[in-house]
Amino acid sequence: MSYTNFTVATDADGIALVTWDMPGKSMNVFTTEVMEELNAIVDATVADSAVKGVVITSGKSTFSGGADLSMIKAMFTFYNDEKAANPDTAAQKLFDLVGRMTGLFRKLETCGKPWVSAINGTCMGGALEMSLACHGRVASNAKSVKIALPEVKVGIFPGAGGTQRVARLADAQSALQMMTTGQSLSASRAKAMNLVHQVVEPDQLIPAAKQMIKDGLKPVAPWDEKGFKVPGGGIWTPASAQLWPAAPAILRRETAGNYPGALAILKCVYEGLQVPFDTALKIEQRYFTQVLQTTEAFSMIRSLFISMQELGKGARRPAGQPKTELKRIGVVGAGFMGASIAYVSAAAGLEVTLIDRDMDAANKGKATGEGLAKDSVGKGRLTQDEAVAILARITPSADYADLKDASLVIEAVFEDRDVKKAVIEAVEEVLPEGAIFASNTSTLPISGLAKNSKRPADFIGIHFFSPVEKMMLTEVILGKETGDKALAVALDYVAAIKKTPIVVNDTRGFFVNRCVLRYMSESYDMLIEGVPPAMIENAAKMAGMPVGPLALNDEVAIDLSLKILKATAADLGDKAIDPRHMELVSRMVEKEGRFGRKNSKGFYDYPPKPAKKSLWPELKTFYPQKKADDLDIEVLKQRFLVTIALEAARTVEEGIVTDPREADVGSILGFGFAPYTGGALSYIDGMGAKAFVELAEKLAASYGPHFKPTPLLKDMAAKGETFYGRFDPYRGEKEAA
Ligand code: NAD
Repeated sequence: MSYTNFTVATDADGIALVTWDMPGKSMNVFTTEVMEELNAIVDATVADSAVKGVVITSGKSTFSGGADLSMIKAMFTFYNDEKAANPDTAAQKLFDLVGRMTGLFRKLETCGKPWVSAINGTCMGGALEMSLACHGRVASNAKSVKIALPEVKVGIFPGAGGTQRVARLADAQSALQMMTTGQSLSASRAKAMNLVHQVVEPDQLIPAAKQMIKDGLKPVAPWDEKGFKVPGGGIWTPASAQLWPAAPAILRRETAGNYPGALAILKCVYEGLQVPFDTALKIEQRYFTQVLQTTEAFSMIRSLFISMQELGKGARRPAGQPKTELKRIGVVGAGFMGASIAYVSAAAGLEVTLIDRDMDAANKGKATGEGLAKDSVGKGRLTQDEAVAILARITPSADYADLKDASLVIEAVFEDRDVKKAVIEAVEEVLPEGAIFASNTSTLPISGLAKNSKRPADFIGIHFFSPVEKMMLTEVILGKETGDKALAVALDYVAAIKKTPIVVNDTRGFFVNRCVLRYMSESYDMLIEGVPPAMIENAAKMAGMPVGPLALNDEVAIDLSLKILKATAADLGDKAIDPRHMELVSRMVEKEGRFGRKNSKGFYDYPPKPAKKSLWPELKTFYPQKKADDLDIEVLKQRFLVTIALEAARTVEEGIVTDPREADVGSILGFGFAPYTGGALSYIDGMGAKAFVELAEKLAASYGPHFKPTPLLKDMAAKGETFYGRFDPYRGEKEAA
């Protein structure tokens, strides 16, 4: 029998080698067709008396990334359609649907012939769950092998037996840690956790897997053997009495109770370990069905999985523009940002000319790259040879003529209109016809800068975030005259460096910084009201923000905040800023000399390592302090999320952001907006525009007019609309279909 996604070759020893190699895909994923074929392979190998056992591996460099996004998307569509048609049976039907994968893997596990998974590369999610259902697991020791159950990161959890098998192989603490964080394990760590049996050289993978079968591997999972004992003895042991009472508290500390998927993992393991395996699988299936129905799972999968992939693949790329094969780019300004932009570009295989005012400055920029490469080698992410090759692609220079072969130049010089003007003119002198000029400015409108350009259609903003090598987001900014070609080249470049782009129209602060400023501004309001600083920081974290607003302000630099306040007042008038904010920030910077992390003095104190930062005690003396008990933590949490969401809504209303996916993905990747909400607009959609407007009005009555809902939101509330409905990102596709 032949299959589309697999080949099966049985050797003279009767071992069938099943190779998973999906045509036209760079990575194997579980689709309905893959599941059907795997099911048929189990049947065929059981029926064939010549087959003694099966080794399953991948024909690609990775093993598999897990479930296909279209399959997960289909589950939501199925459930929503079903609920509309038949609310009483929708959950039951969803339960049956999610049980299919569980059932398939259980069938494989109990088929009577031994199966070994030969893990040749990254093995994630459903693919690891399948491997755990195999009777043997051999992993290659290649550095590229990563083993993980990362589902929790997109709001769900391992729902095809993962929670039960991991907790029956590894000790409960490691199992919970692995699944509730979604962390990636190396092959050796997976072996130490008892999740794989052997780790071998890559060329020994298939022979070792086959040998396991030849050595008489029993086709029975440990938990199907009589007398099976859970590692550590299960739930009712003294060791478990140490673990289980603390586990929910630890999870709560890490997630503030915001992630139903993470909590479900605890419940699955705790309940599942007390019952026979098949009952445990049913428990998992039940919780998975429940979690799939949560707003959190729906919104997280949409933003962090589906939208992120769609944007990464160029959802906003203009039609009809040929793909640009970038070879050489130029970066002008080899400072803090430029040096890192040059490095990530070179790491992506591009040749980079790195220009600064003189050779010393340009060389210093390359040295920054050397530091980053050294760091990656130290962490095992790069080999020495790869690091050398990356650095060889960066050519420092002080001569603009060296940009003559560049198809894209990114400037990251001082944030000063005149300096940028001179650079734009100098670059355009030598830049070939058709090449694109991009500015990494964070505050200067792109349309204004483009006035210095002779070719404004080829002028665009590519706004990076610091640290460039870590931050996955880039904001692409369209000036008034930016043309389609510039956008296409910018998006091709962002794709080449493997970052996620959002495309926004020109405005002061673009999208991300506008929202971030609201976050910090709300914390200034709270400080002035006398909310204890620790409570401000904790409320923000409990709302789901990864970094408190005061800590974030320290990272961004408080003197920069002062500069922005002053510039806003100068450009838009004194009324555009809150004088109390100006007083607070200028006191911090000008009177107290507290600039933020950069001078080790900000809202926090930064003692020498290993001591940890702590809130600056004097901050409490600035304003009369309220008692924590007199404050409502829920309201503090809401204020942070609502003020940011309102700003995101304003950017949509003003036509700055045109696709809700971009506001959502941008808010999560750009500044960590409570990921469980699915992003700033999904936060509004999740509770409904009506509830959001009511909440905003309530907050406006107590905390100021900046909370007043906008006309767009009121209109959406009246009509019962969502952002994804009113600004449907798939409208074009639907109309075309
Ligand atoms: P920086 O001061 O560290 O670096 C600027 C570099 O530009 C310096 O090396 C300087 O020598 C060089 N330079 C100045 N004039 C030049 C000229 N005429 N020709 C060639 N090189 C010249 O500044 P930075 O923090 O890297 O910021 C650079 C740009 O990136 C700014 O527009 C800033 O707004 C933007 N940005 C900064 C951040 C951030 O977190 N620092 C984030 C996003 C964007």
